[in-house]
Amino acid sequence: MEEYRPDEPYVFKHGKRAGKSLEKLMFDDYEFLNWYYHDLNKRSKGGEKTELHKHLEWLLKRGQTRKPKMLCPQCGQRPVTRFSIIFYSDGISIGTVYTCCDAESCKDEIDILASGNTYQLLPFHFIVLNRLRTKGEKLELAELFKHVFKLKKPLTKQRAFELFNED
Ligand SMILES: [Zn+2]
Repeated sequence: MEEYRPDEPYVFKHGKRAGKSLEKLMFDDYEFLNWYYHDLNKRSKGGEKTELHKHLEWLLKRGQTRKPKMLCPQCGQRPVTRFSIIFYSDGISIGTVYTCCDAESCKDEIDILASGNTYQLLPFHFIVLNRLRTKGEKLELAELFKHVFKLKKPLTKQRAFELFNED
């Protein structure tokens, strides 16, 4: 079976999200896209998928395999592969300083930065956006993603599409 491959961003033409692209919503409202995909699956009942359904499926899959371009701030040698969420009693900390590559010595640096607080070391997969609780935390992580994938500002649907379309 041939892999589905769109050649441009998908833009909603009607409804509440008219004019918005699936590509930008990956950053701005991942939770909605995830819910919407499951809803489309339910409604199609395993039958023929619409263009929107196929495009969204492709995008969600691609969101878990993007390669960061930012160099590891710990060693400065290899691109980052993970970021950490540090948990404090009054919130969380996410940021470029808390990112690292696969080297054990770089992961150790994160451990030092966390200074005894609980933390999780996670891959740059968009699905992690679903795990965060508040809108503010989600936006903070989305900003980190834009940074490590070196997306130019302002983020346009075309720039976002190019990221997801990269091999
Ligand atoms: Zn490193």
